[in-house]
Amino acid sequence: MRTQVAIIGGGPSGLLLSQLLHVRGIDSVVLERKTRDYVLGRIRAGVLEQGLVDLMQEAGVGARMTSHGYVHDGALISHGEEIFRIDFARRAGKPVIVYGQTELTRDLYEAREKSGGRFEFHVEKVRVEGADSETPTVIYEVGGEERRLDCDFVAGCDGFHGVSRNTIPAGVRREYEKVYPFGWLGVLSETPPVNHELIYANSERGFALCSMRNENLSRYYIQCSLSDSPADWTDHNFWDELKRRIPAEQAERLVTGPSIEKSIAPLRSFVTEPMRWGRLFLCGDAAHIVPPTGAKGLNTAASDVHYLYNALRQFYEERDEEGIDRYSERALARVWKAERFSWWFSSLMHRYPDQSEFDLKMQRAEVDFLRDNEAAQVAMAQNYVGLPY
Ligand SMILES: Cc1cc2nc3c(=O)[nH]c(=O)nc-3n(C[C@H](O)[C@H](O)[C@H](O)COP(=O)(O)OP(=O)(O)OC[C@H]3O[C@@H](n4cnc5c(N)ncnc54)[C@H](O)[C@@H]3O)c2cc1C
Repeated sequence: MRTQVAIIGGGPSGLLLSQLLHVRGIDSVVLERKTRDYVLGRIRAGVLEQGLVDLMQEAGVGARMTSHGYVHDGALISHGEEIFRIDFARRAGKPVIVYGQTELTRDLYEAREKSGGRFEFHVEKVRVEGADSETPTVIYEVGGEERRLDCDFVAGCDGFHGVSRNTIPAGVRREYEKVYPFGWLGVLSETPPVNHELIYANSERGFALCSMRNENLSRYYIQCSLSDSPADWTDHNFWDELKRRIPAEQAERLVTGPSIEKSIAPLRSFVTEPMRWGRLFLCGDAAHIVPPTGAKGLNTAASDVHYLYNALRQFYEERDEEGIDRYSERALARVWKAERFSWWFSSLMHRYPDQSEFDLKMQRAEVDFLRDNEAAQVAMAQNYVGLPY
């Protein structure tokens, strides 16, 4: 089989890239290890920056997002019983849109299927050959049968556990990592959200986040130990703990109900450099991970897609390699800023096992500074709604 762009990974990065290329008449094939339904069953991100919203519109798949997404002009931050609001619209001139990653991925799958997009599911033993040549090939198996995909370029959109990153020789690749000493226990429940905007809570019992998907679907998280498993937490214990971590007024309003999904995610900051090797380009979680505080994972994946899509468009439409040559540098410049924001916001909101009394005072002073200082709110809001591409 032959295509212009072989895309490894049918998550949001791979699908968005494939759809944007399709709109420009550039052919791609998406190789996905799992099934479509498995990918759609993963409950993940839900806060979209304007840049991602614009890309979805450009890809011609923004209609459902526009009608079903929720515009959030701000978010609440609490520290113990105290609570204040960061007004994104006022401080940064833009809102964010709440629309689940599952829905966004479904829109992209439906659009690609409708336009005859080529997929291979259940791919195994994927490897890239000749990434440093002008004629790369992706070799993989489906049901034990070996197949080849010849192409001009390979987009490695296969997430943190994919194979693309390791195709770049170890001597060329440099990795930077910070592992946080806690995880997030997340619960999805068919209950009305406690608040129409997100609440990020720092309490002496640890962090909590009150988030939502729609008027009757709430997503809540609490900071937990890395040794916990979801089975250790009954619904009752989860709700009880959440209520203790948010201000009493919100706790009283909280509507609880059975969880329909419960999972634990470890928190990690990770970046690999470079994001391009020859004709292989890394995109999204394949190249970087952020802790979810600040909702930058999916959004940073989208900014990579923006740079890569424009580089490929420039190559095919103008025969100009400038975008390709500068892809890694451009993508990484924005990735590191998202890493910084996610690390900063995580440090501000969580309780760390080794935090001294002094550290706690510093954290409290920083929350107070954010509450009282307009410039600090502007910086926070600009980062939260997304820095320009
Ligand atoms: C539990 C969890 C919660 C999260 N919550 C948030 C949040 O609240 N906000 C936020 O912004 N971000 C969040 N994220 C991060 C966000 O979901 C990711 O940044 C986003 O999914 C990145 O998209 P991606 O397409 O780059 O990678 P992925 O979504 O990981 O997609 C990669 C795809 O590649 C496939 N694949 C892997 N290996 C291979 C292979 N060898 N061959 C073929 N296919 C392969 C995988 O099956 C997958 O479908 C969360 C992540 C997790 C894990």
